[in-house]
Amino acid sequence: MPQKPVLIIGAGISGLSIAYELQKRGIPYQVLEAAGHSGGVIQSFNKEGFELDAGPNTIAATPETMAFLQEIGLEQEILPAAAASKNRFLVRNNRLHAVSPHPFKIMGSDYISRGSKWRLFTERFRKPAPVQGEETVTHFVERRFNKEIADYLFDPILSGIYAGNPDLMSIGEVLPALPRWEREYGSVTKGLMKEKGVMAGRKIISLAGGNQTLTRRLQEKLQTPVRFQCTVKNIVVSAVGGYQVITEEQGREAVLEADRIILTTPAYTAGRQLAGLDEGLAALLQQVYYPRMGVLHLGFDAKALPQPLEGFGFLVPHAEKLHFLGAICNSAIFPHKAPDGKLLLTVFTGGSRQEHYFDELGTAQLQETVIKEIRSLLGLTAAPVMQHFSFIQKAIPQLNIGHAKLRSAVAAMEHNYPGILLRSNFVQGVALPALIQHAASLADKLKKN
Ligand SMILES: Cc1cc2nc3c(=O)[nH]c(=O)nc-3n(C[C@H](O)[C@H](O)[C@H](O)COP(=O)(O)OP(=O)(O)OC[C@H]3O[C@@H](n4cnc5c(N)ncnc54)[C@H](O)[C@@H]3O)c2cc1C
Repeated sequence: MPQKPVLIIGAGISGLSIAYELQKRGIPYQVLEAAGHSGGVIQSFNKEGFELDAGPNTIAATPETMAFLQEIGLEQEILPAAAASKNRFLVRNNRLHAVSPHPFKIMGSDYISRGSKWRLFTERFRKPAPVQGEETVTHFVERRFNKEIADYLFDPILSGIYAGNPDLMSIGEVLPALPRWEREYGSVTKGLMKEKGVMAGRKIISLAGGNQTLTRRLQEKLQTPVRFQCTVKNIVVSAVGGYQVITEEQGREAVLEADRIILTTPAYTAGRQLAGLDEGLAALLQQVYYPRMGVLHLGFDAKALPQPLEGFGFLVPHAEKLHFLGAICNSAIFPHKAPDGKLLLTVFTGGSRQEHYFDELGTAQLQETVIKEIRSLLGLTAAPVMQHFSFIQKAIPQLNIGHAKLRSAVAAMEHNYPGILLRSNFVQGVALPALIQHAASLADKLKKN
């Protein structure tokens, strides 16, 4: 009997790369997508000669990611980041402080106090006291270092990756190496020294045409076209074995039979889709917090900047009480993203810590406030020549305390309902390289079974 296609729900990077890897292994598949286009949160567009990304702006590509991009024919589209991308900045007292990629170089800067430098230096002599179960990032960092290091180093790092709140996030989920280093080497700084090569080999890149070039290309590569405007409502056990997937397409309900289903939808949607099978898991999925975010693209005349901004971007600790989380200096790292003589900044607002500003100020006043703050910080002498704001109602899943319980519930559901797999970014990690890499290993496993 011919194999039923694997149903993949969602045509973001997760769903498309899984479909592509299944196709390579000769496994039939069908991608079902609620929207009229692919890409999910990856959305790129042009405005007045600026190339804008409202979702991911950069990819920290591993050698495997680079090989994958070449394999799908995107070699010519890869934009390597300029050398300046190694320079990163943190904001304190309305000033940019250069922070080298090497964490210990912070010792030579005036960004943190002497007391904190001492806590960093002496951490290796502090007795390990690993906590059983989940621990927040803030609790872990204050235990191993101190409050200033939590507020001024770890808070902005988590803003940059998750738009997250370290008081809520689980260290084991978002920075798993740190508790492991404490357990294995007795100290975070010792672990960092021993494994300092771990990020080596990664290259910061973007793609010509924006990062949606990646999902567009994957979509083109699929021999079975994505079924767009097909919303999966729920999944039930079929009386004849396997599962029934109930969909809605152009107002009409349809039922698809499947033995294998891969959900790549956000947790709140997956919760609704699985409610008929596992109420407990559905409730946990609905609780995963996705804060609102705003992405503000600003174009300036290069002349408005008193001195060139040579760096990847800057992150703002929450304690600084500004109205944005940080910004990427796109035109400094990928010059062709802005027309000649212009600068492009992508500023991130909202997130777990700052979404209340949307309610308090509204998006128009928030943008004005952020522009004022950015101009003051960088000394920009003129107003932006281009401005574009994208609002994301549910942006990035927060891997907060409680996520371990969700993982166990996902594993139990996959055991009780063989053939159903949950493979979205709240399970595999949010970074694009991790999601692409996971697709290949998942397809290998499915090929074997
Ligand atoms: C603002 C922002 C900045 C980011 N920056 C970076 C970065 O710089 N680098 C990086 O690596 N990562 C970054 N990320 C994270 C990364 O973009 C995401 O983790 C990743 O794109 C998620 O892909 P996905 O396919 O798992 O999910 P999604 O992109 O959410 O795709 C899920 C798909 O499912 C579809 N769907 C939903 N409901 C249904 C339904 N009922 N039926 C059928 N289909 C449905 C959706 O329409 C969507 O297409 C960023 C994310 C955001 C939001």
